[in-house]
Amino acid sequence: MPAPIESWGRYPVLQHLAARPVVWRSDPLAVSPASLLPFGRGRSYGDCCLNEGGTLLTTRTLDRFISFDPSAGVLRCEAGVSLGDILALIVPRGWFLPVVPGTSYVSVGGAIANDIHGKNHHRVGTFGRHVRRLELLRSDGRVECGPGEPLFAATVAGLGLTGLITWAELQLRAVPGARIKVETIPFGTLTEFFAIADESDARFEYTVAWMDCFSRAGRGVFFRGDHAEGTATPAVTRLSVPFEFPSMALNPLTVRAFNAVYALKRRSTRVVDANPFFFPLDAVAG
Ligand SMILES: Cc1cc2nc3c(=O)[nH]c(=O)nc-3n(C[C@H](O)[C@H](O)[C@H](O)COP(=O)(O)OP(=O)(O)OC[C@H]3O[C@@H](n4cnc5c(N)ncnc54)[C@H](O)[C@@H]3O)c2cc1C
Repeated sequence: MPAPIESWGRYPVLQHLAARPVVWRSDPLAVSPASLLPFGRGRSYGDCCLNEGGTLLTTRTLDRFISFDPSAGVLRCEAGVSLGDILALIVPRGWFLPVVPGTSYVSVGGAIANDIHGKNHHRVGTFGRHVRRLELLRSDGRVECGPGEPLFAATVAGLGLTGLITWAELQLRAVPGARIKVETIPFGTLTEFFAIADESDARFEYTVAWMDCFSRAGRGVFFRGDHAEGTATPAVTRLSVPFEFPSMALNPLTVRAFNAVYALKRRSTRVVDANPFFFPLDAVAG
């Protein structure tokens, strides 16, 4: 029975032999006549989480926390736990993930297998640098490994090809609160962008820019920020888009119109919640 499973880009659309949930990390690998590939939350843009004609081992059910040392900031959890679930546990206790991508709906296993980067790449490198240990479930059994070992090096950014990560131990970073002090700086040209980027990377933990690709000069808006004190405001209900926009909705005219409005942002400094700063697209479901 083909399982309709997609990546975030929804392309290519591939047929799978089966999608098998991994419920217990102590179970051996599923028996399948075709190849096996782990599947986290399917937030990959491309097809690296798909396995045409083969079996996907889905990890949403591997969702348990195993241990947390609140004095050292060391957390061990199963590989299907999402980064959002981890943040909900650790931020009120003064800790944060060392690296987060642009969405919180990413599993720990997927974050390791794609060795994701964040807005602080210039400071702390990729997610894999902060993994202290992990366990792999392979067709020849279970094996634990850590930094410095060849199997670990092959698994970080290994796209799930060295086995299924069952759990991982992460080194967290201490933060003063759940807020981010963010400076917004509009720029008019690429030269201005590079000057702001150089200065900002030296002074700020997080840097990210939006650029209007229709503008010849290279106008855009630069955001730079650091962790700040304060508690998060309660989450609002997410807006949901339960249908697909017709493709004609995204055309040069609508994009130019959006860009013209977005480029009106003024220079400002604000203290905002961490979630909308890091995960703006998570505000819209579907
Ligand atoms: C809105 C948005 C913003 C994003 N922003 C960024 C960003 O800023 N930086 C960045 O680097 N990425 C970013 N991404 C991409 C995303 O972080 C990665 O694709 C991530 O790997 C997705 O994790 P996942 O749990 O959905 O894994 P999947 O997409 O399901 O799988 C990704 C890979 O990991 C493997 N895998 C999954 N689980 C396991 C496991 N337990 N054991 C072994 N292998 C496993 C899969 O086989 C596959 O090869 C973004 C994605 C979206 C949708």
